[in-house]
Amino acid sequence: MATLDTILRKKLEELEAKHLRRNLQETAREDGVWVVRNGKRLLSFSCNDYLGLSQHHQVKQAAIEAIDTCGAGAGASRLVTGNHPLYARLESMLASIKGTESALVFGSGYLTNIGVIPALVGKGDLILADKLVHACLIDGAQLSSATLKRFSHNSVESLEKLLKTHRKSYQNCLILTDGVFSMDGDIAPIDAMMKLAKQYDVWLLTDDAHGLGLLGGGAGSAGDAKQKPHIQMGTLSKAVGVYGGYVCASKRMVDYLKTTARSLVYSTALPPAAVAASIAALEIIEEDKPLREKPLELARLFAHELGLPEPQSSIVPMIIGEETKALAASKQLEVNGFLVSAIRPPTVPKGTARLRFTFSALHHAEDVVRLAASCKEL
Ligand SMILES: *Cc1c(COP(=O)(O)O)cnc(C)c1O
Repeated sequence: MATLDTILRKKLEELEAKHLRRNLQETAREDGVWVVRNGKRLLSFSCNDYLGLSQHHQVKQAAIEAIDTCGAGAGASRLVTGNHPLYARLESMLASIKGTESALVFGSGYLTNIGVIPALVGKGDLILADKLVHACLIDGAQLSSATLKRFSHNSVESLEKLLKTHRKSYQNCLILTDGVFSMDGDIAPIDAMMKLAKQYDVWLLTDDAHGLGLLGGGAGSAGDAKQKPHIQMGTLSKAVGVYGGYVCASKRMVDYLKTTARSLVYSTALPPAAVAASIAALEIIEEDKPLREKPLELARLFAHELGLPEPQSSIVPMIIGEETKALAASKQLEVNGFLVSAIRPPTVPKGTARLRFTFSALHHAEDVVRLAASCKEL
């Protein structure tokens, strides 16, 4: 009989053989975009800190003051004694930016999705998810025990076909999509999806992890939508530069989730410093329009230099195909002084391993032009 250790060794060897084994690489972030890896300074195009707010003086100061006055940790779940007064301010800011009645803050974006989805649907219900949604939406869907079906990426026709065929056989139904797709950078057709949602009496949940602070006047991927999705979730760890997750929705929806989302009820509240820092970051986001717009401008400059399609967000993929080739391209860029991670299955579909470039307000146009020149040589 194989011991547990031999089983693990074999599994690791299999992953290695398929070039799918992952390693944690020590990377020190010096400021927003410069990092040190293997003793070498690299300019990173792989961070989601789109506005550089994780390094902003006011944001850091807010965290330091909160630690000084409130301590390092929250002490309990929000429903016990962890509901620090700072939460009310953060939630009202989120609701105001998104234009919803209410907001609710969770421990992270991942925790938000695995809490919210099972709170809304269960056995006998239906979930329809875009083929390319983020892994944590699928994890939430699987935890819920609802029937999960996938529609073709950004295809309203494919979604409608599923609704037509299956909606009537289930009680409640929830559509899941990324607002901005995390590995492709394109944007969901939210208006058309909301139209279908109304017609078929279903909820739409959008994951706006890569939209808040950047698109739609700061409100994110649904900022310009004619009708807001029923549930807009997102994270405080990307453009906001800190840590935490949230949903923005109606007051009734938030009231319900407070009682039923298990990842909120049974997990410790965020450290007060994270809440205070997020408030400071959102204040900057609200005030600084040129800052919000800079990442997309740089993404467009990069795509233009390389003759790639015009990006809709600050994420630009360069699809390479084979895992080994994507890894080699990433290594080559590293030699040239750039950190650009190779993204492989199962994060992206098989045969679409890629380089994923993200642009930050802290990058300079000259850096982007240099990066593009380096990419032309790949
Ligand atoms: C990063 C990400 C999450 C998870 O958010 P965290 O706060 O990092 O847990 C969820 N959805 C999408 C689309 C993401 O890119």
